Amino acid sequence: MIPKFAATSYDFTEFVPARNLIAGKWVNPSSNETHNVVNPRHGKTISTVTYSTAADVDAAVKGAEAGFAEWRNLPMRDRAYVLYRAREMMLRDIDELAWLVSHENGKLFDEAKAEVAKAVECMEYGCSLPNLAAGENLEVSRGVTCETTYEPLGVVAGIVPFNFPIMVALWMLPQALVAGNAFILKPSERVPLTMLRFASILKDAGLPDGVFSIVQGGRPTVEALCDHPGIKAVAFVGSTVAAKSVYARASATGKRALCLGGAKNHLIVVPDADVALTAENVVASFAGCAGQRCMAASVLMAVGNVDHIITAIAERARKITIGKDLGPVINPGSVERITRYIDEAEKAGAKVLVDGRGQKATPGGNWVGATVLDHVKADAPAACEEIFGPVLSIVHVPNVDAALKVENANPYGNAASVYTTSGHVAREVIRRSEAGMCGVNVGVPVPREPFSFGGWNDSRFGQGDITGWDGFRFWTRTRKVTTKWALQKDTTWMG
Ligand code: NAD
Repeated sequence: MIPKFAATSYDFTEFVPARNLIAGKWVNPSSNETHNVVNPRHGKTISTVTYSTAADVDAAVKGAEAGFAEWRNLPMRDRAYVLYRAREMMLRDIDELAWLVSHENGKLFDEAKAEVAKAVECMEYGCSLPNLAAGENLEVSRGVTCETTYEPLGVVAGIVPFNFPIMVALWMLPQALVAGNAFILKPSERVPLTMLRFASILKDAGLPDGVFSIVQGGRPTVEALCDHPGIKAVAFVGSTVAAKSVYARASATGKRALCLGGAKNHLIVVPDADVALTAENVVASFAGCAGQRCMAASVLMAVGNVDHIITAIAERARKITIGKDLGPVINPGSVERITRYIDEAEKAGAKVLVDGRGQKATPGGNWVGATVLDHVKADAPAACEEIFGPVLSIVHVPNVDAALKVENANPYGNAASVYTTSGHVAREVIRRSEAGMCGVNVGVPVPREPFSFGGWNDSRFGQGDITGWDGFRFWTRTRKVTTKWALQKDTTWMG
């Protein structure tokens, strides 16, 4: 039994240790490796997490296999009803879930609530699947029909990052479960708590034991999931280094794998862009969730003379108060990494228009304020690598062609946006961008359900997107059935 999380403010609040959920029971992982779960605002330990071994993963798979045997036999509509009930409970408990997200991840309460709301939207997509997933049926020759049905894969697994403790797990879980699979989640070891409460919600909604399992841990646990022969598919979201290695390892054992990686997203701003809209939107994109979003815009390509827009962006960014408008980053290592990027860019000649270094909202927290770097060189680390903090690097270029050249030379391909009032410019930039998710005057172009989410190039390894219909297809295989009930004397052997 996981108790409710008691916090109703940012005041430091402890929570229960993160355990495994196996065959419907909460059990302790069996390794000796235990880590603290630290609230990034206070720098204090709110919980602990023990890593799971290969034996724990094996136990989870066995429990999931038992759950799958029962779950797959329910009609899809009955499986979706469990999610309907869970969705209602999420809305009932949205503040509690949001405070838990905020306490373990650090993001502001409003940002956390928006995350839970988006997770609810993902549940709604899962609930709608019975209306979308009817297969195909056609009489292909007289008396003979072919039909296609979507079948579950069996026991499947999802591995998720720290920056969205519930939403990313729910990019995967609704489609996987409604399709009839049993799903094992490996949460981020840095934020393992919100999904404990979500597991309780699923149980209260009537999900049978073993259909949803949790194994806590880090890299060794992930590797055990990739290697286990009982797991049929693995979805991963995290950094590119880990995504690549999980994709290779899971594929090597014949699993279906879809692994989303890191990002470096560009915004192209041209002189005719709406100043107020652009300034507001760009700042929300690079500083929202403390810049810890794979969709955060981190490079602004300033085309020609857009100094009036840069001034407005800097003015807007200076108004951000850390602690109130901007949450902490995940840990002290992140503060150190982000600060290093800013220092190096400055040393290489960038102008620090807005300086977030050295700010502190609480004594023990991991703070970096909103930072705007102007005249960053196109090949500087701050312009090329994922910083994952509230830092905007501005690179100046003479025209849109030059902006696209810089953008498309970057190996990532998650998101790209253009700020303009010209339909022609918008169309050309979108058409020529090497990015899977594009925005016109939108800095975080996350496709809302039912549109699917997924980048290109080094931001994704595997086929298809992770949400929407692609997600459902990832978690299913098609059965093709050809049927004849009577001899048709006048048909050929093909009939
Ligand atoms: P991470 O790669 O460190 O960890 C992600 C998950 O993988 C965690 O569960 C972790 O335990 C596990 N892991 C870590 N290293 C591993 C390894 N070498 N082998 C196997 N498993 C490993 O990522 P993070 O720091 O938690 O999250 C931030 C990253 O996630 C950023 O790069 C961000 O862009 C990316 N991200 C991408 C998307 C997307 O949709 N493309 C969405 C959210 C976050």
